[in-house]
Amino acid sequence: MTSSCVLVLNCGSSSLKFAVIDTQSGNTSLSGLAEKLGEQDPQISWKVQQDKQKKQLPAHAAHHEALEALVNIIKQMGFDTSLIAVGHRVVHGGENFTQSVIINEQVKETIRKKSQLAPLHNPANLLGIDAAEAAFPELPQVAVFDTAFHQSLPQKAFLYALPYSLYQNHGVRKYGFHGTSHYFVANEAAKALGKPVEQCNLITAHLGNGCSIAAIKNGESVDTSMGLTPLEGLVMGTRSGDIDPGIFNFLNEQLGYAPEEINAILNKSSGLKGISEISNDCRNLEEAAEQVNERAQLALEIFAYRIAKYIASYTVPLGRLDAIIFTGGIGENSSYIRELVIRQLAIFQLELDEERNLAARFGQSGNILKDSAIQALVIPTNEEWVIANDAAMLTSSQEEQ
Ligand code: AMP
Repeated sequence: MTSSCVLVLNCGSSSLKFAVIDTQSGNTSLSGLAEKLGEQDPQISWKVQQDKQKKQLPAHAAHHEALEALVNIIKQMGFDTSLIAVGHRVVHGGENFTQSVIINEQVKETIRKKSQLAPLHNPANLLGIDAAEAAFPELPQVAVFDTAFHQSLPQKAFLYALPYSLYQNHGVRKYGFHGTSHYFVANEAAKALGKPVEQCNLITAHLGNGCSIAAIKNGESVDTSMGLTPLEGLVMGTRSGDIDPGIFNFLNEQLGYAPEEINAILNKSSGLKGISEISNDCRNLEEAAEQVNERAQLALEIFAYRIAKYIASYTVPLGRLDAIIFTGGIGENSSYIRELVIRQLAIFQLELDEERNLAARFGQSGNILKDSAIQALVIPTNEEWVIANDAAMLTSSQEEQ
């Protein structure tokens, strides 16, 4: 194996997603997940080609123990000698990072400071960085930020109409997330459209458990739906997306909910799950909707209506639109949601091609519209690839210096 592989780590509060990616061939040599970390029954599962394996970890094993288990797997497979870097997904880089960086003590300190803005994510990302530094002291560690791609937003898009001092003194503004995914699919869309991304005006919809949408003008993000936190914008699996901010006070003062309870309602029991009272999973809701479950139908309708409204509003900063991109678990697979969205955009003279819509699922890309000036492209995302590629590029440019 050539020395061109990057270990990609995506650390959550109780999970560690990983992949070893060969940046020359683009192949994923190993991928997997350690989950339930810190709980009674943590486990690690991984896949090499089609071979899947699973192992229990000791009770309450934490991130560094999961990483030790991962190092053993990597060594047993002989992948360790081909690694050139470790790439970390870091959720919040604030205004400090407009692109990926090689991690040093100063970078770690900034990520630590940004924990105030992402208290669930940045501390977990730091645990992953510390564990990876201990496991691979000889390898460069690279941070790839979810927020970096959206640092090109102009002030009129990122500022809330709040007292300016909240932005100046406390960084209260829109940051946006899923940046690596929006960046990746925008570049793939440019290839499909046959012109440089710098000449493309796109609206990219990342629809997974978390959902966000971005307006991309001449290859740069100029607006996006997630905000200071990943709660703003589209309806999501369990998150409300946009609501009247006055609801917070109403729930607190009139209904007696404590702030942390309201936070939990908005993040964990709203969205598709909250409306349907069935599930946060789009597949389950589509099945229920087919059985004429009205609440499932309503949840999906609200979900799609919000997406269509955002798409229409993002034509404002773009002026001209080349393509709408659907990605993420729902965007890549749900012909049902895509149809609901496109049908509400008739004002743009978009006409769905039902056959193409059904064909573009389960990893298949494609334009799902009958021939029109604007395309609607389904493009599977690959955030791991962006992280691996950035890590490899930074590592080689460091060696050249
Ligand atoms: P992600 O967070 O990108 O993994 O996406 C998770 C979401 O994708 C869940 O809501 C799944 O129900 C949804 N999803 C995955 N496969 C399908 C499918 N075949 N049809 C509809 N939704 C799907």
